[in-house]
Amino acid sequence: MKIAFIGLGNMGGPMALNLRKAGHSLSAFDLSTEACKKFAAEGLPIAASAADTVAGAEVVISMLPASAHVEGLYLGGDGKPGLLEHIAPGTLVIDSSTIAAATSRKVAEAAGKRGIAVIDAPVSGGTGGAIAGTLTFMVGGSAQDLERARPVLEKMGANIFHAGDAGAGQTAKICNNMLLGILMIGTSEALALGVANGLDPKVLSEIMRRSSGGNWALEKYNPMPGVMETSPASKNYAGGFGTDLMLKDLGLSQENATAVRAATPLGGMARNLYAAHSLAGHGALDFSSVIKLVQKAG
Ligand code: NAD
Repeated sequence: MKIAFIGLGNMGGPMALNLRKAGHSLSAFDLSTEACKKFAAEGLPIAASAADTVAGAEVVISMLPASAHVEGLYLGGDGKPGLLEHIAPGTLVIDSSTIAAATSRKVAEAAGKRGIAVIDAPVSGGTGGAIAGTLTFMVGGSAQDLERARPVLEKMGANIFHAGDAGAGQTAKICNNMLLGILMIGTSEALALGVANGLDPKVLSEIMRRSSGGNWALEKYNPMPGVMETSPASKNYAGGFGTDLMLKDLGLSQENATAVRAATPLGGMARNLYAAHSLAGHGALDFSSVIKLVQKAG
């Protein structure tokens, strides 16, 4: 299958590599020349522009930071045409970015008018899941379009869920990430408390992992440096899932909560804590660095 892949960041790069490894014919693009160089060196064919990537593609996949990037790419703006004008009718677009459900619906509607199918398919599983091809996809769109996408999604993920119509994948994703954001802060607090009392963070992590406090952060993404060799915490919080991306997701869940009059007190508090952490200059660090807010300095 001919696949165009746009957005070769921490997630998109490894996802595109898995499609290439699975034998698909790929054309990839990122606005960052650094990202293009990095993945060209790993064997991804890089196109000169987004418009060039989609020429002849049967499936277009995007993995961009936020709503504005996705809307700008597909619908254009400031007098610039959107990519939808270059995509052939009949093509399937899979947007895996985490963005506002309303933006997913807007793009899907505009694409539908041109005979292009769109599903929102945000992911969970982190950069580890992107590299291993074990991501969870939460899909919004028609069941028929999901079935068209399934063979491609299966090469990048282990779990594929149909959440509902266009935008529903995004809603599921922001509920999940609100929970993750809260869990990471709670896990950080508990670890910092134990360490302040002289406990070994490795021992405490293992105790809680196997007890009723066990959760994904303790299982796969420990926020304390040195506890887990593969976690961003042990790499000076480089790579992984940026604090500013978590802040964006918690902003989306709070906007959504306001719209439907839901009560999300811990989600609101978590958003404010990540905002403070970002304002302190840590926006580009992995979100597990939020532990710095509750850790003893030095
Ligand atoms: P990233 O910032 O590492 O990568 C995004 C890439 O998109 C960058 O390389 C950027 O140059 C590129 N880009 C932006 N606008 C573009 C455009 N118009 N055309 C081409 N390229 C463009 O982000 P990431 O960590 O890969 O995350 C991508 C999305 O996945 C986000 O919505 C994020 O919330 C979500 N997500 C991330 C993780 C994670 O662990 N990092 C996990 C699940 C979901």
